[in-house]
Amino acid sequence: MNTTGTMNSIALHASGLHLGYERAPVVHDVSVSITPGRVTALIGPNGSGKSTVLRSLARLHPISSGEVTIASAGSSSPTPALSAREFARTVTLLSQSRPHPSGLSVREIVAFGRHPHRRRFASLTDADRAAIDQALELTGTDSMAERSVDQLSGGELQRVWLATCLAQETGVLLLDEPTNHLDLRYQAEILDLMRDLADDHGTAVGVVLHDLNHAASVADDIVLLSQGRVRSTGTCEEVFTAEVLTEVYGLPIRTHVDEDTGMVRIEALPRRLRRTLAAAS
Ligand code: ADP
Repeated sequence: MNTTGTMNSIALHASGLHLGYERAPVVHDVSVSITPGRVTALIGPNGSGKSTVLRSLARLHPISSGEVTIASAGSSSPTPALSAREFARTVTLLSQSRPHPSGLSVREIVAFGRHPHRRRFASLTDADRAAIDQALELTGTDSMAERSVDQLSGGELQRVWLATCLAQETGVLLLDEPTNHLDLRYQAEILDLMRDLADDHGTAVGVVLHDLNHAASVADDIVLLSQGRVRSTGTCEEVFTAEVLTEVYGLPIRTHVDEDTGMVRIEALPRRLRRTLAAAS
């Protein structure tokens, strides 16, 4: 996204990633592409390696082997190695572990997102202020811009951190469980926002989602991880099959296509219904 309205064309490609903690390998040979104008959802059970992959894409987790490259769409060669500052103007991550700032207003927090664009000790430019205002508006935090972040609920603070990422105006937006802590309305709004950023600004969105129905409603491409490996990848229709999901999540899962919306819907049956169905068959 950027305030000048130009379309993004930056893609992030990871190939053959092996990642671990200390000496314990947790991610094995994972390849994933986050491409302009598309929403790519990383899904999978707890501990399958989603956050670790996302953090490695954001240069926040060391890569044991494999590589992550950034490329402009339409160009066959990867962009030369970016400095930390250039990288921060290109890729941002809404991480799961966020600081709990104190004594600052919402607007001051969102202004941190402009850091990679600003000269040292320079005051905010008109472009900085426009980007901050737009990020506040897109996340519905403009009405609380002058409030202290100490007074915010967890969900409100979550949207403020998202606004900080948007103010960074990067072509690649990585989000780790952005709908956590949010009520139904804001869950829907964040999903819509991801879709709008991809459709209207060409943003390359990579998102970790727990809720498979959220993934089915927003994503173009799905990467299903299981035990640190890619178990399946493709469109929602290709990845969300009852057979694969039942195997990966270890409980009976049903899928169907909603007649009205055309979206794949996924449900795990409660135990009492499983018993009833088993008894009836
Ligand atoms: P997910 O996001 O799919 O829940 P993670 O990427 O958080 O999975 O974790 C993948 C694996 O790495 C898990 O087995 C988890 O226990 C392990 N892990 C995550 N963070 C750490 C850490 N700080 N130190 C050691 N192991 C970790």
